[in-house]
Amino acid sequence: MANDYLKDKCGVFGIFGHKDAARLTYLGLYALQHRGQESAGIVTSDGRLVREHKGMGLVSEVFNEEEISSLTGNIAIGHTRYSTTGSSNIKNAQPFLVETLAGHIAVAHNGNLVNALTLRRKLEKEGAIFQSSMDSEIAIHAIAHSKKKDFKERIKDGISQLEGAFSMALLVEDGIIAVRDKRGFRPLSLGKLDGAYVIASETCAFDLIHAEFIRDIEPGEILFITDKGLKSDRISDKKTRCSFCVFEYIYFSRPDSSIYGHNVHLTRKRQGRELAKEAPCKADLVIAIPDSGSSAAIGYSEQSGIPLDMGMVRNHYIGRTFIQPAQHIRDLSVRVKLNPVKDVVKGKKIVVIEDSIVRGTTSKARIRTLREAGAKEIHMRVSCPPHISPCYYGIDFPTKEELIGSSHTVEEVRRFIGLDSLAYLSLEGLYKAMPLPKNKFCVSCFTGKYHVLPEHGIGKFNLENQLSFLNKI
Ligand code: 5GP
Ligand code: MG
Repeated sequence: MANDYLKDKCGVFGIFGHKDAARLTYLGLYALQHRGQESAGIVTSDGRLVREHKGMGLVSEVFNEEEISSLTGNIAIGHTRYSTTGSSNIKNAQPFLVETLAGHIAVAHNGNLVNALTLRRKLEKEGAIFQSSMDSEIAIHAIAHSKKKDFKERIKDGISQLEGAFSMALLVEDGIIAVRDKRGFRPLSLGKLDGAYVIASETCAFDLIHAEFIRDIEPGEILFITDKGLKSDRISDKKTRCSFCVFEYIYFSRPDSSIYGHNVHLTRKRQGRELAKEAPCKADLVIAIPDSGSSAAIGYSEQSGIPLDMGMVRNHYIGRTFIQPAQHIRDLSVRVKLNPVKDVVKGKKIVVIEDSIVRGTTSKARIRTLREAGAKEIHMRVSCPPHISPCYYGIDFPTKEELIGSSHTVEEVRRFIGLDSLAYLSLEGLYKAMPLPKNKFCVSCFTGKYHVLPEHGIGKFNLENQLSFLNKI
């Protein structure tokens, strides 16, 4: 779990005031499954008693009818957690629930705190005993250790100590609290259903349960949701510029969601159009690498006039239980997810639309399968700039060394992947496609310039490593 702290890409859901709170949360988590497949969990409260169920795997693997029925109460929060590695750990599953002197409190968190180590050290000195290696647990302790008398003030005091990226749902015995960091790195929206309030990382979760979208939780907002209704407060009075994660629009969010107030699919389509303007291609067909490349491929095809066809089909039914094939069965794990449609690509010059190249290794394997399927020429167009720097705010990019764009020219990447030509969308082109002005976004992964630096500098941002380092000195 060495890189645990870089892998907190997650889905958050919460509902207050509905008799089917757990069941609706379960459905909401289904809609947010793409944001995390490592573990899932729900915590409920009936105003007095708090219940939880968490497990490793997909939402469908973690819950059954019996468990959903046992999660009683009309208040619930839920979480889906992400990891790309097989190293899973139930201790790090969320929501994270503790009992404090002031009652139960649970947190479901999306994002990464950049001052986790300092805060954890401080809290440990004050006697806090940590159960997990999650930065999210720190938020709970910060709240529990606050000396403020009033409960709301304690929450605010705890939250105001956190730095970095956090979109959170907190559950207390008689309410939920939605929190978004002052820069608003990760999305979080508020909705309504049958008089109940709902919060979710993405609006696609509202659609599924027929909840109506009300508004986004504002950057820097703490929203208390109790039987007295909504009460909005600010983490701090200071104004900070927004740092909406641009990669949510490029890859991470679902195309049917509206994040930061705008639909994801339409934004991706505009990226595809800009890409076609910047990097045209003489090809017979536009082919998307599904699913994340699909929207941009439509835009590329519309702008270029080159017909779009389905040259690759994705298998959606790969759960955690998928047994990795032995090393010597080459390509099998790539093919199980994406398979070329031979009769479409055979003998054709194709331009493949990919949303991003991170390490380059999956792309290389996919291109090989397209060659084997008989494609005559394969050109790739990528709907964002090269990734050159890690994300410290909750997207699971590898270290700088592993990001192929950080140390290789476009020509070198082209050769590595095995393409006839390769071009990326420029940062200016990306901005043109965005539905908001460019100063609203965080684009650190493309520029290496960070709006808030992780403590102890870049490159040492790993709580477990830092803890073991400090323990040695
Ligand atoms: P690469 O060729 O760099 O190995 O992989 C690129 C592919 O990974 C793209 O299709 C892109 O959609 C996908 N991708 C981008 N970011 C992530 C991520 O955080 N997790 C996973 N599983 N795939 C990602
Ligand atoms: Mg993709």
